[in-house]
Amino acid sequence: MNIQGSSKVRVTSGNGLAKGGFPLVARHEALNRTDTANFVIEPRGDAGLRTTPNALLQAIRHERFLQLRQFIKRVTLVKDQYLYQQDDVIQGIYFPETAVVSEFQILEDGRTIEVGITANEGAVGIASAFNVCRAANCVQVCIAGTALVIGREILERALMSDPQLQVVFHNYINGQIKQLSQKVVCNTFHSVEQRFCSWLLALHKRSRRDKFRLTHEHVARVLGVHRPSITCIAQNLRDKKLIDYGRARLAISDFSGLEELACGCSSEFHTAQTVH
Ligand SMILES: [Zn+2]
Repeated sequence: MNIQGSSKVRVTSGNGLAKGGFPLVARHEALNRTDTANFVIEPRGDAGLRTTPNALLQAIRHERFLQLRQFIKRVTLVKDQYLYQQDDVIQGIYFPETAVVSEFQILEDGRTIEVGITANEGAVGIASAFNVCRAANCVQVCIAGTALVIGREILERALMSDPQLQVVFHNYINGQIKQLSQKVVCNTFHSVEQRFCSWLLALHKRSRRDKFRLTHEHVARVLGVHRPSITCIAQNLRDKKLIDYGRARLAISDFSGLEELACGCSSEFHTAQTVH
């Protein structure tokens, strides 16, 4: 099942590599599963790549990273771009650097709810490196920025001969499972206002920003509620001078005030993602 709504997807190489096999510009006039599954990532990455702010890649042996770098490309992800649709065969694994991406589940009636958020502490699609699998969720860029991408098969081959790499990725996947479990608890027992505040704090922790390009509609999709509910809560939070917002923008004004209203799950989400 696909999420529609973003008419164009633009993928650009952050280092100007225009002939590497990975499409520099992918136009998705009507995004469908075939479009995203057709991304081909050839082993012609950035051989000069030496460092990355991505903590998961930093956790692997540097010698291994240097071996892999020829297969790794730095790409610029634009806001609202889809990396995978639900059930896509995963061909590329993304390690965000400055970008932040969200994973959504889609209900039969078209409603969505965010089940995971990933920034430079982790990766999306990592489970597919152990075995060919389809995307469990739809993955969409929440905050634009750079990411490193590597072909699934390349990483699978590296894993076969590197137990240390297996441990690093297994630990990360275990952290993701913990985050998902916490999300279930959060979505079941905590109020929309609590979840709204927690989500903003989680977004801040991952992006290191306090101003975002966000609409009430986007927040409603994240929290799995109708937009008027978010507008009502946002007005209340603005009246308390905890946030400010305008057309497609939202800013945090009072972090400690938000933390008092939040359910505390944002810290749990962050902890789960950073366990190695
Ligand atoms: Zn919660």
